[in-house]
Amino acid sequence: GTMVAVNLNDCVRETVRLVQHKIKEHPHIVLQQKPFEPLPLIRATPSEIKQLLLNLLLNALDALAEKGGTIEVHTGVRHDQWVFLEVRDNGCGIAQENMAKIFDPFFTTKPIGQGTGMGLSMCYAIAQAHDASIEVESRLGEGSVFRVVFRKMP
Ligand code: ADP
Ligand code: MG
Repeated sequence: GTMVAVNLNDCVRETVRLVQHKIKEHPHIVLQQKPFEPLPLIRATPSEIKQLLLNLLLNALDALAEKGGTIEVHTGVRHDQWVFLEVRDNGCGIAQENMAKIFDPFFTTKPIGQGTGMGLSMCYAIAQAHDASIEVESRLGEGSVFRVVFRKMP
């Protein structure tokens, strides 16, 4: 896609609005968008960033389907030159033995017909195309954090 100067907060605002409709169907799940702080711009393809974030939000939603809980979306600046996007859930978490496989195409722990296993491999490809990295922290039964870290535009 075409790379332009992007404010991550705009991508978050649009994608969260999209997903809020779906979340409203689940009374036991809450999606919170942390208050925005001013962000440096990044060079990005907005449609791809929104697709990446959508995949992370839908995974968080799946992770909370059984017990309910909270999804938090957060953006921020790190060490003055990085801009990050973070999706946090207190859902089912990821088993340690699966951590190395979650970005593999077709890897899914979801029932047939519910998971394609393509979401995170798409996220990985999009991050790569943006010279961004994805950090994951997760504990089985406690929840997960997915953080995408971009370099700010020079
Ligand atoms: P899918 O959602 O179709 O299963 P993904 O590539 O999006 O495929 O995710 C792969 C696997 O990673 C999921 O099946 C699940 O086991 C794990 N996973 C991803 N995100 C989360 C999350 N937020 N909480 C728990 N597990 C997750
Ligand atoms: Mg998925």
